Amino acid sequence: MYNNSIVPRKFVQFVIRNIEKILCKGFRKVLNGFKRNRLSELNKTVENLNFLEQMVNTVENRFQDVNTEYKCTKLYEESGLLVSSKTVQIGEKMKPSRSNNDVVLKPVSACIKMISLIDLFTNVLTSGELLNDMKTHYSELLKETNVVSNFVQCNLWKSKVFNYDDKTVFPLILFFDDYELGNALGSRAGKNKLGAVYVSLPSLPPHITSKLSNIFLFALFYSNDRKLFGNNIFSKLIEELQYLQDNGILVLNETVYFKVGLIFGDNLGVHGIFGFTESFSCTYSCRFCRVDKNRMHTMTTQDDDLMRSINSYNHDVLVNNVTETGIKENCI
Ligand SMILES: [Zn+2]
Repeated sequence: MYNNSIVPRKFVQFVIRNIEKILCKGFRKVLNGFKRNRLSELNKTVENLNFLEQMVNTVENRFQDVNTEYKCTKLYEESGLLVSSKTVQIGEKMKPSRSNNDVVLKPVSACIKMISLIDLFTNVLTSGELLNDMKTHYSELLKETNVVSNFVQCNLWKSKVFNYDDKTVFPLILFFDDYELGNALGSRAGKNKLGAVYVSLPSLPPHITSKLSNIFLFALFYSNDRKLFGNNIFSKLIEELQYLQDNGILVLNETVYFKVGLIFGDNLGVHGIFGFTESFSCTYSCRFCRVDKNRMHTMTTQDDDLMRSINSYNHDVLVNNVTETGIKENCI
């Protein structure tokens, strides 16, 4: 039920509680009546009656490990079925709070929620045949030389895994976007805006690759915190991704590496995550080239001299002037 996204979370405990009531609590009543009426007539021994009592207790308490959400979560975590999110503190922010008819600013910690990809991938790949399926699909894709149907067949990916020799490396695709909770048109719009980072694996076999359960949530945070702390908010995420590509994870006695292949998003999301300007009316608002906004309106062909490159990007980061370069100070 927890795995089913159409079932609200609070409803799960409602169902468990009621099943417990119907199956377990009622069971004792029925059996006690039966015991009184029938078993004493049969002159059963005390041992037998005690044994029956134990059985009734077992049935009655069969839900005791799952009758609260906390117990459920703990049980699933211990049995390796659930990878819980972690809270990572990224700094402190001031929050207005009311005291004695006055509004004062109080420091509160700013946190992000992230799900460890190391734990998640270890968990997902250890169970079942997924690792083998992924490896088979990956090698089949590489055998195909005429058609490019997957990211792993691209030269970009081949250049990224050049140093890994025969090791198992899978690509990761990151997706980032902001989304609004609650009323997006109301007076408090933007207050509950969240930034979400998702990860997908393009080397999954095609029949499961687009399943919603195979697009993994990586992190969630308040968009306003990203404005406040800049892209430092991603530092823990980058640490994890670095670990996955340098050390890999151990799955069934084999080290499996994961490397970021692409970062997806809409214009605003991609500009945000890479430190480009998030205002599309400023002078240099294109992330591919350094064309100014006046020329942009009439430009119909690409000007190779204006194209951005890794070197120009690094240079612009050092220049640290968004009006002249279109790149903000705080980028990854
Ligand atoms: Zn451009």
